[in-house]
Amino acid sequence: MRKFIIMGIQGSGKGTQAKLLAEALDLEHISVGDVFRWNVQHHTKIGAQVKRIMAAGHLVDDDLVESVVRERLAAHDWNYGFIVDGFPRNARQAEFFLESYDIDGVINLHLPDEEVHRRVLARRLCSQCGVDYNLMAHRPQREGVCDVCGGSLVTRADDNPEALAIRLAAYHQETRPLIEIFERKEYVATVDATRPVADVQAAIRQQFDLPFGAA
Ligand code: AMP
Repeated sequence: MRKFIIMGIQGSGKGTQAKLLAEALDLEHISVGDVFRWNVQHHTKIGAQVKRIMAAGHLVDDDLVESVVRERLAAHDWNYGFIVDGFPRNARQAEFFLESYDIDGVINLHLPDEEVHRRVLARRLCSQCGVDYNLMAHRPQREGVCDVCGGSLVTRADDNPEALAIRLAAYHQETRPLIEIFERKEYVATVDATRPVADVQAAIRQQFDLPFGAA
C-alpha cells in the first residue's frame, strides 16, 4: 500500500504528476480541487457553497474541506494506495490528516514564482474530461478543442491575475510552512518542477524508489 501527498505551488504540475503516478501504480488520485470543481459544475449544494470562494482564489473553510476529505477517504476504493493532491493546505488540515492517516511520503514540486504566472495564466482545461492544456507547453491540436474528447477548452475561474495573487499569498503564508512540519515526521522529496513533465515524473519515482516500467 502506497500513500502519498503531493504539494507544490500553483502551476507546479501537481495534478499532472499525480495522475501519471496514479495511472502507473494503480493509485487513487484524490484531488480536493477536482472534487470542488465537480460540485460547482454539477450545481450541488457544496458547489453553491464554494463557487465564489474558489473563483476569488480564497481557501474553502476547513470544516467543509475536512468533511469532503474524510468522506472521500472513507470510501476505501483503492487496492494499492492513494495520492492526495491539494490537501493539506494549512496547519489545521495537516494536523487532521496526520492524526488519521499514515503516509509514505510527501512529493514537493518546486517552481519559482515568475514561472507560476507564465504557466497558470496560459492554462486551459477541458470542460468535459478535465484534461489540462497549456497554451505554451502543451497546446491542443485544434485551438480551443480537447484532443482527447473533443470538449471545449475553458479557463479555470481562478486562473486570472487577481485570484492568482490571493492563491499565491495563501500558499506562501499557510501551505509552504507545512513542508517543515512534514520534514520532521515524513520523507519529503523535493523535485525541480521547471523540468519537462516526463523528467519530473522520473525524478519522483527515483526519489521514492518506485518502478519505472508502466506509464
Ligand atoms: P486546486 O485545484 O488544488 O488549485 O484547488 C482549487 C481551489 O479549491 C483552491 O483555490 C481553493 O479555493 C479550493 N481548495 C482546494 N483544496 C483546498 C484545501 N485543501 N483547503 C481549502 N481550499 C481548497
